Parts: sequence; structure tokens; C-alpha cells
Amino acid sequence: MSDSSASMAHTAGADLSFLVRYMKAPRIAEALAQIAERARSESWTYERFLEELLEREVFARQQQGGETRIQAAHFPARKTIDTFDFGYQTSVRRQVVLHLASLDFITAHENVVFLGPPGTGKTHLATALGMKACVAGYRVQFASATAWVMRLAAAQREHRLDTYLRILERYPLLIVDEVGYLPFDAEAANLFFQLVGARYEQGSLIVTSNKPFTAWGEIFGDPVVAAAMIDRLVHHAEIINMKGESYRLKDKQLTRLTEQSSSATSAQPT
Ligand code: ADP
Ligand code: MG
Repeated sequence: MSDSSASMAHTAGADLSFLVRYMKAPRIAEALAQIAERARSESWTYERFLEELLEREVFARQQQGGETRIQAAHFPARKTIDTFDFGYQTSVRRQVVLHLASLDFITAHENVVFLGPPGTGKTHLATALGMKACVAGYRVQFASATAWVMRLAAAQREHRLDTYLRILERYPLLIVDEVGYLPFDAEAANLFFQLVGARYEQGSLIVTSNKPFTAWGEIFGDPVVAAAMIDRLVHHAEIINMKGESYRLKDKQLTRLTEQSSSATSAQPT
């Protein structure tokens, strides 16, 4: 009896190794003998056995795919929500960011806008959410507003703007960093408007800007275009206003403050 079950297992194994190779599932091939052994000795259900096997392949692919997607997204640096100091940046509620990190906004085709002065963590949080999305299986593209406009302008020059916008539909999340650092000319403003319009209720955008919406008319050189764009951008969006001093100056500021207070003390008339 043990002979026949062993030989059956052997035959099944031979067939299976062909099948898993055909399925291009190398982690199943690797784990098959060991998991089948455990399944037999622990009398697993068929479902449990299949689940264990598939999990090996799926988890490995997710990890590998996450890394591939992170590299393809072209983030300026790797940032995570864990390393964001909510004690320093008190104008952002951790709860709000953690909710965004559930990535419901991506499934709902909603946007996120981070507004605030330089160094307040806009790019950090935009990147951290983008990396989360990559790990969760979403394709992401990160670029500055200027770089996006250059890509769109190049596509338009080659009469393939529509095609390019359709290609971008394959990315559930696009990140547009630093709107407002450089003003746009009329063509750039129009192209950017087209991007926001194409994404409207179709895909998500994360936008960061150092300028409040009231200054966007100036950035885009046209208050009407700016208003129409903001309208589409914020209709379904989480707007996060960041305040405070630049994190980049955190330590410098501390030194300066101590210097100031010590010189103030020494300057005190006795
Ligand atoms: P912004 O895009 O608003 O100009 P960044 O996100 O680029 O600012 O932040 C500047 C630097 O400071 C980055 O290295 C970022 O990781 C870091 N930083 C900013 N705010 C925080 C914070 N609250 N906690 C931890 N690091 C922060
Ligand atoms: Mg930034």
C-alpha cells in the first residue's frame, strides 16, 4: 500500500513538475515536494494545500513586482510613512495619511493634493503613498510638473497626445510633484489641463504644490484655465494643507535658536 501511494505520488510529481513549469511558477515547483509531504502528514484539506502552494508563488511575485514597479515609477528617493515624523509636522493628521495608505483613493479614482511651503514633507508623503501603491500592485509614475509637461509637449509635437494619455490610463496613480515652482506658459498650462481632464474620474493623481490654489491662476498664466483645472482636480480629492518650518532646516534652526537665545541672554542688561 505504501509502495503504491509512493509510486502514485511520484507519477503525480512528474506530471506536476511539467505543469508548474508550463505555468511559469518556479516557487511552486521548489516548494511542491515539501508542502505535499507536510500536507500528507498533517492531513490538510485540498483547499489548504492549494492555498499554501499558490501563496508561495503569489507572495514572491508581489514582492518582486513591488520592487519592479517601485523602480519603474522613478521616485526621487525612497520614503515611507513609518519614517514620517508626525510630531514635527503637526498640521497633517496621522489618521488621514494612514487612511490614504489604505489606497481606497486609488480604487475610487480620487486625487490627493499636498499644499504647503518647501520642506514640509509634501514629496515625502506623495512618495510614501506611491511606494505603497507599487507594493499593492498598482503601476505608478512619478515626475515633476515640469517633466510631465515636457513629456506631454513631446507627445503633442508628434501628434500622439491622445495615445500618450491613453497609455497613462494603464497607470492607476500618477504623481505630479512641484506644481508652481516654475510658471507654465499657455501651451504648458493647456497640456497640464488636458492631463488633469483625462484623469478625471478615470485614475488618480497625487499633486504637490508650494503655492495655494489662489496663486494657481498666476502659475498657469490664466485664471480661467486654472479654475477649471482645480475644479476637476479637487472634485474627488483629499486636500492636505501642510504648514510649518522646513524639515530640512530643522537642526540648523535649533542651532540658530540656541545661538540667538544665548546671545540674547548675554546681551541682557544685568
Ligand atoms: P517638500 O516636498 O514639502 O518640499 P520634502 O518632502 O522633500 O518636502 O521634505 C524635505 C526632506 O525632509 C525630505 O528628506 C523628507 O524626507 C524630510 N521630511 C520632511 N518632513 C518630514 C517629517 N515630518 N518627518 C520626517 N522627515 C521629513
Ligand atoms: Mg517637494
